Amino acid sequence: MPPRYSRPASRLAEADGNRTRLAEVLGHYGFEDRARHQTRYASPHSAATVATGPRPAVRQNAHVGDEVRVSGTTGDAVADPRRSTPRTDRVLADPRLQAAADRLGPRIVKQVVAATLDRCRSGQLRAEEVVDAAVAALPDGAAGMRRVLNATGVVVHTNLGRAPLSAAAVEALAVAAGATDVELDLGSGARGRRGRSALAALAEAVPDAGGVHVVNNGAAALALATCALAQGREVVVARGELVEIGDGFRIPELLESVGARLREVGTTNRVRREDYAAAIGEDTGFVLKVHPSNFRVTGFTSSVPVAELAGLPVPVVVDIGSGLLAPHPRLPDEPDAASVLRAGADLVTASGDKLLGGPQCGLMLGTAELVERLRRHPLARALRVDKLTLAALEATLRGPEPPVAAALATDAILLLERARRVAAELSGVVPATAVETVAAVGGGGAPGVELASAAVALPERLAAPLRLDEVLPVVGRVDRGRLLLDLVAVAPEDDPALVATVRRTASSGG
Ligand SMILES: *Cc1c(COP(=O)(O)O)cnc(C)c1O
Repeated sequence: MPPRYSRPASRLAEADGNRTRLAEVLGHYGFEDRARHQTRYASPHSAATVATGPRPAVRQNAHVGDEVRVSGTTGDAVADPRRSTPRTDRVLADPRLQAAADRLGPRIVKQVVAATLDRCRSGQLRAEEVVDAAVAALPDGAAGMRRVLNATGVVVHTNLGRAPLSAAAVEALAVAAGATDVELDLGSGARGRRGRSALAALAEAVPDAGGVHVVNNGAAALALATCALAQGREVVVARGELVEIGDGFRIPELLESVGARLREVGTTNRVRREDYAAAIGEDTGFVLKVHPSNFRVTGFTSSVPVAELAGLPVPVVVDIGSGLLAPHPRLPDEPDAASVLRAGADLVTASGDKLLGGPQCGLMLGTAELVERLRRHPLARALRVDKLTLAALEATLRGPEPPVAAALATDAILLLERARRVAAELSGVVPATAVETVAAVGGGGAPGVELASAAVALPERLAAPLRLDEVLPVVGRVDRGRLLLDLVAVAPEDDPALVATVRRTASSGG
């Protein structure tokens, strides 16, 4: 019997805005030590985190080292630190720091140097150590976000940025980052339709859609549809589909925030077609069906399939949530855009960065007339996606299988073989064993689906040090006193990097 999550995986994946809930969720993933670590290594790191400027000027394990030095040198090593502290311009003149200023920008380097000089002034560093310490404290890049390995066993992890992009999508991002023909027809030299090739790719992927449009995220898609079709009017929606997605995002509140009134029908567990029919009137903007992405109601339940709603005399909008474009054999309960359109929906909305495996965006697929109306609505401009999103979306649709799809298709036997190899490579370094696990889809999708997977089980105490690794943090999950590094969402080519992080952590006394 493989180990089980102690809570429904979808709740774990969707960290709640509420701090207590977040702590609970993070705790489950081995974040349990975070508060303690932040306190311990707090000062420069957290100061930089709240600053509006770029990321932490000082790297974490520089602080770990500092702590040791504080106790070793305070008081005796330097008689009057203030007098011997080097001048800022002299430190900045060091060729290594000059090169860093070219790469990271002078602001970040100055912040690091200022923080390092403070440590010298307070006696934590000797004058001759300042330059080396500043170089060691430089961040890897000008942005604060760091690459991490997702070993949580949640394929689409909300706190880890949902879907990781395919290499093809990353390449497309790099191209689109410069000047690009996003809105220019190079043939005629005239203005072209913005993002036309990405939209064409989406239309090709879902031939049942008469029109397609892309906005910033799933919530934006729903907001635009509601604003355009039901402002000052009613949205008819089943009580059992008034969903909270995560981080305090509630669909009914979103609908009301753009000026629609809710017309709730049915009960928590049951709704019939007649309930919808009776609620429809002059004031109805549309009927909304929402996929309850992150929970399941079982027992005495009923909902009305799209095909039955389609006969009602108002538009039917379906929020399918996770962005499957066609049915997925391993996710039989997850709705997909093609099937829902074929069943008669006028408009389907979905996220691009859940099961589709692309960038954050909101997909809108529907009848040509309806989509054109949405596209021309003034709010559409406020929800418009940037060229990077369009590029990554197109590459996701046209290019090779994205990582999310690859993870969902992985054979548990292969995962167990990988886990055994990783465990073997760690033998003699740290107690490591390969175990079978149950992984989850996550990202607020497929709540009941259990993916057979495998993990490397390590001592629980490694959870925090692995997350704090300087080179490549690894985020696992704590399960019954062990740290599990689940391989379902780790690309096979990243196994050596995972081993390297564990080795570094274990050998530095983690
Ligand atoms: C995830 C989800 C949303 C929100 O989509 P975002 O892309 O996160 O804005 C809306 N509805 C459903 C059913 C979802 O699952």
